[in-house]
Amino acid sequence: MTATRPINRMKTADNSDNLRPEPIAVSPFGKRRYHAWNEQVKVRRGGRVQKVSVIAGFTCPNRDGLVGWGGCTFCNNEGFTPGYLERSQSITEQIDAGLDFLHRRYPTTTRFIAYFQSYSNTYGEFERLRACYQEALSHPQICGLALGTRPDCLPDDVLDYLAELAREHIIELEIGVESCNDAVLARVNRGHDFAASVDAIQRAAARGLEVTAHVMLGLPGESFQSMLDGAGELSALPIHALKIHQLQLVRGTALARQWQRDPASVPLLGEQACIELLADFIECLSPAILLQRVGSEVPPSLKLAPEWNLRLSELAPRISAELARRGSWQGCRYLPRGYIAACHEHRPPHH
Ligand code: SF4
Repeated sequence: MTATRPINRMKTADNSDNLRPEPIAVSPFGKRRYHAWNEQVKVRRGGRVQKVSVIAGFTCPNRDGLVGWGGCTFCNNEGFTPGYLERSQSITEQIDAGLDFLHRRYPTTTRFIAYFQSYSNTYGEFERLRACYQEALSHPQICGLALGTRPDCLPDDVLDYLAELAREHIIELEIGVESCNDAVLARVNRGHDFAASVDAIQRAAARGLEVTAHVMLGLPGESFQSMLDGAGELSALPIHALKIHQLQLVRGTALARQWQRDPASVPLLGEQACIELLADFIECLSPAILLQRVGSEVPPSLKLAPEWNLRLSELAPRISAELARRGSWQGCRYLPRGYIAACHEHRPPHH
């Protein structure tokens, strides 16, 4: 990317010296002002490739007792499951049902990948995983897989197999990082630390797999600064793309119950504060990372809080408008870590 620019010194919120690129007049990402996944991937893949969701019946080590019980406090997988899915159907039947729906919605799209989204889709016996992936890939209209999973469910043999599949198919590996802050991860009962994410992302990338990381902004215990620091931590990793979600409380989750008992323990962002945080986070991200999502939408029947509602189709333009108002864009506050480290070495000791 060409978004890095000359730098000068400025004061940060904590009054420490920092380096910040000088503003230039034109966003390298056009009107969107961030590195949008859709536009880039459409060009690279020669057209639109749509995801068709499937449920393979996997579970999660943070629910079945291997790592923990009860799961992450924000998790309710119903929030991610399209209404057309019928759990009792085979993967092939689910793909057929999904395609029936998607052909009506996107009549000009001809290429699809199977999206294993709910729970941890690399968690299970290797042969079972392979059979599920192969069933999806043997469908005549499926040209790849998107697999959502946890970082601690990616043993080397699974990564080797996915790398082998990636030679002939589209393979999108989505790893739930959620936060780069270990105290926050512990507080939401995530069951792994940030080091686990770093390890999984590095091992996947070393095999040539393209990783999409998933982060959630606004988790309890997270501060404004810790989230912006997280943007820097993620930018230092070999991540191809990022999905950013803002915290929303989903009915039936431990976090929703906690908020109902004690709202002060789960601070929620207002609409404008959330837009501003997303803009700040995007400014601090590497311009090389594609943004596959810049926010999330929970079905109204499942959402408990916050009260404000923005469809994704409204949220993304609001973020672009906020970046435009500031005259900024993705990466304008990002500096490669090596440079910052070098500068820190020359700071006086009291810094
Ligand atoms: S968010 Fe993912 S890792 Fe956490 S409990 Fe739910 S399925 Fe498991």
